[in-house]
Amino acid sequence: MTSGRIPAHPVIDSSHSTVEAYQSAILSAVRTLAPTSLELGDAEGCVLAEDVTAAVSLPSFDNSSMDGYAVLAEDIAGASEGSPSTLRVTGEIAAGDIGVYRLVPGTAIKIMTGAQMPAGADAVVPVEWTDGGVAAVEIYRPAEAGNAVRYAGGDAVEGETLLTAGTRMRPMHVAVAASAGRRVLSVRPRPRVVVFSTGDELTEPGTPLVPGRIWDSNSYMLTAAAREAGALAYRRAVVPDDPAGVLPALEEQLIRADLLITTGGVSMGGEHDVVKAALRELGTVTFRKVAMQPGMPQGFGVIGEDEVPIFTLPGNPVSAYVSFQLFVRPALAALQGASDLDLPRVQATLTEAVRSPSGRRSYLRGVLDGNKVAPLSGQGSHQIAHLGRANALVIVPEWETSLPAGDTVDVLVLP
Ligand code: AMP
Ligand code: MG
Repeated sequence: MTSGRIPAHPVIDSSHSTVEAYQSAILSAVRTLAPTSLELGDAEGCVLAEDVTAAVSLPSFDNSSMDGYAVLAEDIAGASEGSPSTLRVTGEIAAGDIGVYRLVPGTAIKIMTGAQMPAGADAVVPVEWTDGGVAAVEIYRPAEAGNAVRYAGGDAVEGETLLTAGTRMRPMHVAVAASAGRRVLSVRPRPRVVVFSTGDELTEPGTPLVPGRIWDSNSYMLTAAAREAGALAYRRAVVPDDPAGVLPALEEQLIRADLLITTGGVSMGGEHDVVKAALRELGTVTFRKVAMQPGMPQGFGVIGEDEVPIFTLPGNPVSAYVSFQLFVRPALAALQGASDLDLPRVQATLTEAVRSPSGRRSYLRGVLDGNKVAPLSGQGSHQIAHLGRANALVIVPEWETSLPAGDTVDVLVLP
């Protein structure tokens, strides 16, 4: 177990933040979005900002769970194949029929699934136990009182809380809200995220490459990742490496953004680090080194009058991806008032030895299969092809520089 080797002294360089310290700095700056009222049909994927209670008991009336005959159980107590009980059929109740019916003892009323039970009946005999008769019915089996009856309140009682604030509205929750009689719900809207990539080397996928250029993958990846985390995400055109152009490009989007993400232009000191150069002047965005690999250079803060959170993620695609999952995802959860976006953390056995830099926590790309995890071979932060094979991140603590095959490690399961 790696946890048995936690050192007594800090191993992290004091010029670096821990992953956790950086995550808490982010969470303390992100405010939950104000609730809004949405029609039921538009609420899927949003997070409830109120509890939903049952307007009536569910079901609200005693009804049949099968097509058959409403009877008094004691009238058919002796029924058998050899000696069926024969009852006169006095009527029929279909689902939706709001008439008032009363069963006369010694008779039967034909009844459909979901139809209201007639007064005086205490059981339903499924049609399969009968000859299906119209004027009279032969019943071949006895039924206990309550057979095939769904009693009022058997699912929920009036006033019962069916959904709690913080629930992300998935299809079953939409059904529950509808069944509770709700048409409009108070929800946290999907956060609007705008994604920018930066770099003169970036070329639009689908257009020809010339040597020295690469296709822009980060902006597409981050837009997709934000959508996967419940956001409405938009990708903007690539911002060139011109410091004068960065701020205007960001500011132009503030009106439609609850969160901004940039990638690239935040390396540790190059003069082409245009994002850093442009945002540092504002004084509201902090650039720091986080004791991790990949993804060490990180920037986070707020911009504009509305203090819109902004993440300046590193440019290397694997770094950008891991940074999104560790830092942007919790911020999106906080905006939504949701707690369902944490990546599942499991323990698994390493199938191969791994290495990690001292003082930094590694998030190695791996393939998790049952309780085993296989680290992938290409761990460079530019190795997008290898990232595409991963389904998990293997965590190697700051104080380890290598772990042997067979060690137990913590693993984050990727969405
Ligand atoms: P930077 O942080 O701008 O120095 O970029 C670091 C590395 O990431 C460089 O190799 C860039 O070419 C690469 N990179 C930056 N932005 C993107 C992007 N949007 N898509 C793919 N690679 C990128
Ligand atoms: Mg760049």
